Amino acid sequence: MQRLILEVADLRVVIDGPALLTFSAHRQAGSLTREACGIVMGREWDGTLEITEATPPQKSDRRQRTGYVRMPAGHLALARQRWKASGGLIGYLGEWHSHPEDEAYPSGRDLQSSRDLARRNGCRILSFIIGLRTSYAYCRNGGVDRRRTICAITSSRST
Ligand SMILES: [Zn+2]
Repeated sequence: MQRLILEVADLRVVIDGPALLTFSAHRQAGSLTREACGIVMGREWDGTLEITEATPPQKSDRRQRTGYVRMPAGHLALARQRWKASGGLIGYLGEWHSHPEDEAYPSGRDLQSSRDLARRNGCRILSFIIGLRTSYAYCRNGGVDRRRTICAITSSRST
């Protein structure tokens, strides 16, 4: 299964196949699709963050054409399950959601909410915005380093 390697700020981020499939399956092709959202989980090794999995949208999420509210139900249960099963190796790393645009770019609200999340939890939050052709990743560090770095991810084709 393919994986994608990218640089986000000073981090090396590896996105494993299952997470790429989830991103790809929820790209907003078509005019009636709604934004999809979830969390990303993974592990850290040798200065690398490996995204092993992304949760798909859950029934309780509030999804609109442009906008979403990710509810905890489902996403967090899955994260807890992975955490337990991996003996604490696989954990929460951040958030993802889709945008109905070819070249996805985080909105002001997206940047604000990732900053709030990083501050509130005092940890690094990785965010992914999945576009139709180009997706973006950026990173926030809780309270200390507020710099964000945005880089393009070329979406995998859904064929
Ligand atoms: Zn957004």
